[in-house]
Amino acid sequence: MRRDKLITILILIGLVSGAILGQILHGTVEDQVATGDAWMSIGKLVLVKPLMLLVIPLVFLSVIVGTTSIGDPSRLGLVGGSTILYYFGTMLMAVILGAVLVTTIGPGKDLPPETVATLQADGQSEYKDFTTSSDGQSNDKAKAIKRAEDDKLGGAWMSILNQIIPSNVFAELAAGRTLGIIVFALLLGLSLAACGESGLPAITVFQSLFSGVMKLVLWVLWLTPLGVFLLVTGTVAKIGLGALSGPLGSYMITVVLGLAIHAFIILPLVMIIFGRVNPYRFMWNMRKALMTAFGTDSSSATLPVTIETAIEEGGVSRKSANFVLPLGATVNMDGTALYEAVAVVFMFQLWGIPLELGDMVIVVITATLAAVGAAGIPSAGLVTMVIVVAAVNTSLASRGVPPLPLEAIGVIIGVDRILDMCRTMVNVWGD
Ligand code: ASP
Repeated sequence: MRRDKLITILILIGLVSGAILGQILHGTVEDQVATGDAWMSIGKLVLVKPLMLLVIPLVFLSVIVGTTSIGDPSRLGLVGGSTILYYFGTMLMAVILGAVLVTTIGPGKDLPPETVATLQADGQSEYKDFTTSSDGQSNDKAKAIKRAEDDKLGGAWMSILNQIIPSNVFAELAAGRTLGIIVFALLLGLSLAACGESGLPAITVFQSLFSGVMKLVLWVLWLTPLGVFLLVTGTVAKIGLGALSGPLGSYMITVVLGLAIHAFIILPLVMIIFGRVNPYRFMWNMRKALMTAFGTDSSSATLPVTIETAIEEGGVSRKSANFVLPLGATVNMDGTALYEAVAVVFMFQLWGIPLELGDMVIVVITATLAAVGAAGIPSAGLVTMVIVVAAVNTSLASRGVPPLPLEAIGVIIGVDRILDMCRTMVNVWGD
């Protein structure tokens, strides 16, 4: 059996058996959260950390190799320009789809008052747990939420700009801020290509290092089935598949439906029109990356697998994959954008705060930006969603409407991990 086929089957077995074992644990153990966390922390050790170890060197090297192989700056401008246009265009489509679906389905509307009261009360304690560390102090998530709330939209733009214009590449590398690394690698690639003869030795070294890191990716790929099994077991043990039918069920179904329409209809249409390839065959060829995204919950951690699969099985040219995919894992998040729009509007519906068309426009714009600002790591979208809530609250304040309390996010925290797995898969598919 071919290596890729074997790994795919093993990952699938990991996914399914993880879901089954997780559900059994969910129904039998007493402390589902502690059990789920324990499984997930082993899963992180086995798969997420080894993948993350490769991400920063890979982003740096692949962008250099991609840039130098495209070479000509005007050609690079064309590739870069169309990539960015495609990324923003598809994210906008995703957000609009999410906004339309959540308004039409109205998962937070017309619920019995007792259900709303229970959801809100549960949400408050969930929010407290989410933002409090074991010693009772506010944790990093609480700080990130506060920052996002204070900074608002202007702050979000500034943060993106600050990352695009870094002052110390080693600081960016150490902090794992991929946007700054991409910019530096792009500039270095361009300048090396412009050097001609004297740039060649460095280019060869980078190409050779890149091959080495890709070899490492192949080795780490063998950890994917076990890692996915552990992570899925932990997630399902914690939340349980029954969550899909609870009071939050229709909210979850709205998100998943939106993700499915975007992944199976909209993106394939874009692909047929601009790529002239069979999108479903391509999706099938990319299955290893998509399943890794589902299991790890992180488009950054999946990036090594995405690059490997796109080149080896998707038939994507090395030049494009090396250049386009690292940027995609950093900025392009169709799934997150769609989810943020649905989640925010759902919360406003639940609190009985009516949104006007102008507010919806704010949701669409800020959700796109919040998705760009979200890192490719688990739960990142949950935190950057605060930007969207804060922006809508400001618009409501100008009309004298009371704001949505930030604790509202607590309502959806409990089921977020499963949705995060689905949206991460769409994020990677969009890349
Ligand atoms: N987990 C997502 C990703 O890595 C980001 C998010 O929506 O939280 O792509």
